[in-house]
Amino acid sequence: MKKISRSDCEQLDQQDSLACFRDEFSLPDHDIYMSGNSLGAMPKKALAKAQEVITDHWGKSLIKSWNVHNWFTLSQTIGDILAPTIGADAGEVVVTDATGINLFKVVSAALTLNPDRKKIVMEGSNFPTDNYTVQGLVKLLGNSVEIVFAEEEEGILAAIDDSVAVVCLTQVHYKSGRLLDMKKITEKTQACGAISIWDLCHSGGALPIDLNACNVDFAIGCTYKYYNGGPGSPAFVFCAKRHQGKALQPLTGWYSHAEPFAFERDYRPADNINQMLSGTQGIISLAVSEIGIDMIARADMQKLQEKSQQMGDLLIQLIEQECAQYDFNIISPKDADRRGSHIAISHKEGYAILQALISAGVMGDFRAPDTLRFGLAALYLRYIDVWDAVARLKNIMENETYKQEEFNRKLAVT
Ligand SMILES: *Cc1c(COP(=O)(O)O)cnc(C)c1O
Repeated sequence: MKKISRSDCEQLDQQDSLACFRDEFSLPDHDIYMSGNSLGAMPKKALAKAQEVITDHWGKSLIKSWNVHNWFTLSQTIGDILAPTIGADAGEVVVTDATGINLFKVVSAALTLNPDRKKIVMEGSNFPTDNYTVQGLVKLLGNSVEIVFAEEEEGILAAIDDSVAVVCLTQVHYKSGRLLDMKKITEKTQACGAISIWDLCHSGGALPIDLNACNVDFAIGCTYKYYNGGPGSPAFVFCAKRHQGKALQPLTGWYSHAEPFAFERDYRPADNINQMLSGTQGIISLAVSEIGIDMIARADMQKLQEKSQQMGDLLIQLIEQECAQYDFNIISPKDADRRGSHIAISHKEGYAILQALISAGVMGDFRAPDTLRFGLAALYLRYIDVWDAVARLKNIMENETYKQEEFNRKLAVT
């Protein structure tokens, strides 16, 4: 294969039709940001938005803002902006609460659709909060249901049969970046009479998703990764129209009531997406999340995926070209169609290498015991950034900088 040069990368950047989005972000001058799969970058307009909500809305309109600035329906408004990016219709998505909380809601709701079945299929290697949350639910249900853990597409498909109530999977694996076949797995799930739930944390805002074309029942995901919604911005929840008002989630706060302002004693569910809400949201964070979500809604999802696939191929090729002798292992699928938007590589000195990289201005992240992850957020990362990141990595390996004591101390957040 032909050696890739930095000027090849410059050329790719010049031809990049998404390049115009980069200017909408606030990014550090010298650092290369490759953690967009963990915490998206800050859209420049986020600050003005926060200022508007705090100074004008909260500061001047105060309680009137629930009506005049539409705070009361903001979860639905932003949900409708996000919906097309995941192949959902208006009125099928709300932006609210945290991913884990929304997962609790939809798994509970899904179980009510299949009351005679006792199994939930999940992937054991999934991001822990999904497993922990469902384990908490199982305990609350007096262990009347059980989780069946399976791994990878083959194992998952084999675990789905007509004794299964719910199949709850994450589309892009948080560590390896492996992409599951949503259509195929959902088809099998529903052919067996089970309910399908997809966690879109690592795929939402990164690649085209068509929930309705796949006939998915429920989905959840966060907005602080590829949607660039801001640290801890609220998550989203999708409930297919056919289940609204029928599959009820159990966190039945007043926002999920048919008439919250009737202040009735007893619960009556809303018969629309509002039933997925629970209560009052952090309005500042919710309002700010709209900026990043709107940007993804304006981007061509197909192009986003193509660019991130190309950047992923480039990163893998450059590691093989520049760092072949340093014992890196590519964990992510080499076939771009089988992965999401980050590349995971492993090395036995992974932690120290990542610390040295951060100190050299490349922000990736580390997942124990030995995995380095590099997010390729196509809205703002350039091909030359990938080149420069690998050049800095090579330098660290050549000089064995990572062996320095300062890079071997463990920090709380990796
Ligand atoms: C990021 C992520 C979460 C985050 O959950 P929070 O409730 O926002 O802390 C959950 N699940 C998966 C698969 C993730 O990647």
